[in-house]
Amino acid sequence: MQARSSSSSPFASAVLAWFDQFGRKHLPWQQKKTLYGVWLSEVMLQQTQVATVIPYFERFIKTFPNVTALADASLDEVLHLWTGLGYYARARNLHKAAQQIRDEFQGEFPTEFERVLALAGIGRSTAGAILSSVLGQPYPILDGNVKRVLSRYFLVEGRASDKKVENRLWALSAEVTPCDRSADFNQAMMDIGALVCTRSKPKCDLCPLREKCGAHLTEAWQDYPAKKPKKNLPQRKGYFLLLERDGKIALEQRPKAGLWGGLYCFPQFDSKSALLAYLRRQGVTTYQEWAGFRHTFSHFHLDIYPIYAELTPKKRDEDRSDWKKIEENPREYQSSVSSAVKYWYDLRNPDPIGLATPVKNLLLQFKKGHSHG
Ligand code: SF4
Repeated sequence: MQARSSSSSPFASAVLAWFDQFGRKHLPWQQKKTLYGVWLSEVMLQQTQVATVIPYFERFIKTFPNVTALADASLDEVLHLWTGLGYYARARNLHKAAQQIRDEFQGEFPTEFERVLALAGIGRSTAGAILSSVLGQPYPILDGNVKRVLSRYFLVEGRASDKKVENRLWALSAEVTPCDRSADFNQAMMDIGALVCTRSKPKCDLCPLREKCGAHLTEAWQDYPAKKPKKNLPQRKGYFLLLERDGKIALEQRPKAGLWGGLYCFPQFDSKSALLAYLRRQGVTTYQEWAGFRHTFSHFHLDIYPIYAELTPKKRDEDRSDWKKIEENPREYQSSVSSAVKYWYDLRNPDPIGLATPVKNLLLQFKKGHSHG
C-alpha cells in the first residue's frame, strides 16, 4: 500500500511545517544517507530509544562499513557489538539479511519494496521507512510512535496488536502520508510520537495536529491506543555458575534459537543442588554465593543466583568465611547436568563474543574482585 496524500493536504502540511522547524535532522544515520545505514538504524530503533542507539550505530558502521563487511563477519562478532542492546533476534536477522543481500543481490541493498520485505527481520514498516527515507519512495510507515499518534488523532478504538485495528491504522497512515516529501513526513511522524505525543502526558500544546486531534479535543488521550491488560509475569530461577580456572571463566554458547540465542552465558542450572553436584563431580569442594538479582524478559522474570567457584583453588591469606563447603551427600546432589563447559573466557584478553547483559555485569564484578557474598 503506497502513500495517497499530497504535502499540501492539511494533515501533511501541518506535520511538514513542524518538521522543518523542529524535526530531527542531525542523527548520524541521517547524514549522507545510505540504504545500509538507514536499515541498520531502523532495526536498532525497533524497541530502543534514539539516545541508546547512537553509540551502537556508530560502532557498527565503523566495524562493518558496508553490507558485505557485515555479511562476512562471524555471528559472534555481530552479537559482541550488539551486547547490551537487547532483543538479540534483531542482530541475528541483521546478519542473516546481510548474507541474503551479499548472495542474492551481489551486496547491493535491494530497492524494490517486495525484495526489501523478503529480507530477514524486515517488516512492512521498516521496509517503508528505509525506502522512503533514502529514495523518497512513497511508502507509509507504522511503528509504535505512529500508531500512537494516529490512534489518538482519529480516535481508533481497540488494541494495535489486533489485526483489524492494525489494518485500519495502516489505511490511515497511507491516507495521510504524502507522495512527495514522504521521507520528511515519516521522520516527522516518528519524532512527533517520540517527543510530543508521548505515551504519558502528551504535549498537545506543542503539537501541530492539535486543532483536529480527536483525543485532544475530547481530552481522552489516555484511552488511545487501548492498553494491554497488565499481566503478571511468571517467575523462574536460574543458578549461574561462575567457574574460574587460572583467571579464565567458563562460558557456554546458547543455541541459536531461543533465549539469548547465540550469546555466551555461564553454565546455568535449575537448582542449587544440581549446580553443586556438578561442582562436586569436577572435584571442587568450596563455593561462594554472590548476591542474587532479577533480570526481566518480555515474558518472564528470571531470578538469578550466581555461585562462584574455583577449579584450581587459589591460596589465600584472607578470611575465607564467605566460602561454603559442598557436603558430600549423593542423594541430595544427584541430578543430571546436561551442559558441559565449552569455553574458557579470558578476561585479560577477551575474545569479541556476544554476552548476555547479566553475564557481562557479573564478569565486570568478578574483574573488579568484588564478590558480594
Ligand atoms: S494533539 Fe495531543 S494527543 Fe493529539 S496527536 Fe498531538 S500530542 Fe497527540
